Formats: sequence, C-alpha cells, structure tokens
Amino acid sequence: MSTLEIKDLHVTVETEDGAKEILKGVTLTIKDGETHAIMGPNGSGKSTLAYTIAGHPKYTVTGGEILLDGEDVLEMSVDERARAGLFLAMQYPVEIPGVSVANFLRTARTAIDGEAPKLRTWVKEVNAAMEANGLDATFSQRSVNEGFSGGEKKRHEIAQLGLLNPKVAVLDETDSGLDIDALKVVSEGVNRFAANGDKGVLLITHYTRILRYIKPDFVHVFVNGRIAEQGGPELADQLEAEGYDKYIKAAV
Ligand code: ADP
Ligand code: MG
Ligand code: MG
Repeated sequence: MSTLEIKDLHVTVETEDGAKEILKGVTLTIKDGETHAIMGPNGSGKSTLAYTIAGHPKYTVTGGEILLDGEDVLEMSVDERARAGLFLAMQYPVEIPGVSVANFLRTARTAIDGEAPKLRTWVKEVNAAMEANGLDATFSQRSVNEGFSGGEKKRHEIAQLGLLNPKVAVLDETDSGLDIDALKVVSEGVNRFAANGDKGVLLITHYTRILRYIKPDFVHVFVNGRIAEQGGPELADQLEAEGYDKYIKAAV
C-alpha cells in the first residue's frame, strides 16, 4: 500500500534576478495502483515537480507538503527518499564515467535494501532486466549513460525501475527521443511495473504518443506551475486534437 500526496506545493529556483517561483501551488494524490499522466508545454514546471519529489538541492520548497504514506518526504534526504520507495527517471539522465551499469545498479539496490543482493541471483536479475529492455548483456559493463544513445538511456532507466522495484515511480519524459521500437519496450517496462498492482506511476510527458501504450487513470494538464485541468484518459485525446493553447491563454 502506498500513497503519494502533494499538497499545495510551492517551489522556487535561484536565478540571477533572485528567487523565481516555478511551482505555484500543486496538489495531486497518487494512490497505489494508479497511473497519473502530467502533460504540459515546455517550461511549465514538470521537471521541477519531478526533481522536487526526488529532493534535488537546486529547488527550494517555500510552501506545501509531500507525503509518502503519511511520512514527510521533504524532511528526507535523497537517499532516504529512495529507501522509502520513490524512484525518479530523469528527463536528462547524468553520465557517471568509470562506474559500470552493473556496479551502479548493485550499489543502488544495496542502498535501498540495506544489504547487498546475493551475487548469483543478482546477475540473473540484471541479465533478465537487460534482455527485457532490449539491451545486450554486455551493456551492463559500460559506464552509466556515457555515450548512450537517447534510447539506451531510457531503456536503462526502465531496467533500473524493474530492478529497484520502488513504490512510486516518477518518469520524466521517458518517451522523448524514442523511436517506435524503444517506445514500445519502455512502455512495456512501465506497464510491467504498474501491473504489480500496489504501485503508483507519475508519467510526465509532452506528447500524447506514449499514452497509446501506457493507459493513465488520470490526466493532469500542467501550465505555468499549476494543474490547469484534470480528467480521465479522454483528456489526453482532447489535448492531442486541440493542443495546450486554450490552457496557456487562460493561465496568463
Ligand atoms: P518543463 O519540464 O515543464 O519543461 P522545467 O521544470 O524544466 O519545465 O522549467 C520550468 C521553468 O523554470 C522554466 O521557465 C525554466 O526556465 C525555469 N527554471 C528551471 N530551473 C531553473 C534555474 N535553475 N534557473 C532559472 N530558471 C529555471
Ligand atoms: Mg498556494
Ligand atoms: Mg522537463
């Protein structure tokens, strides 16, 4: 059982002209078994929301709350958030030269479980995760994200998702830059995760394309640091037909 509650969240970033408010009161509850899609134009604050949930130090919470099963997420370090069951797949995953995918995954899993996974079963798990995401077995010996294609980065993120088995996954534009084959593989990975039943998914996307493969229970339109509209999957169809214009005009 897990519930992620975001209540009236206000977030600023430091700019040359001082603090700028990016999130202007975001309220959203993701219960287990639910997939929520956040859709919105570039610059509306979607990544800011993802990074704030994960605890990126660049973002300052000036108001509101984030609770995971009633626990105050904002009081937790980045590591504690991961241990508590939060997972973020970043829009632009970072390179970690000199650290192999295999070592990175093992370290992450060890940090979350509090003990190292048994080597023999772990190697099998990693190989299965690579295969499930259409990655060659030798892929796990490469440095994390170094020289990865856009598709490889996203496949790797979804392999991580499967191996780390969080409670709530925040996926920031996991669909961007993917060709149709990679999009299907990545979507299947997310669907496998969501099919566990007690998992929450927050799927951030700019395009409706991925929603042909991942069916959200709820769709939220995100504009100018706020949720401008919410609905069911039919809202995604409406956005596909009409775009964000009407919401952008209403937000200014
Ligand atoms: P999205 O993911 O929806 O495209 P972001 O969360 O990346 O939006 O950005 C939201 C807004 O915050 C943008 O206007 C962006 O320029 C601004 N922003 C984000 N980080 C910073 C920063 N470090 N300094 C200045 N502005 C920032
Ligand atoms: Mg407010
Ligand atoms: Mg973004």
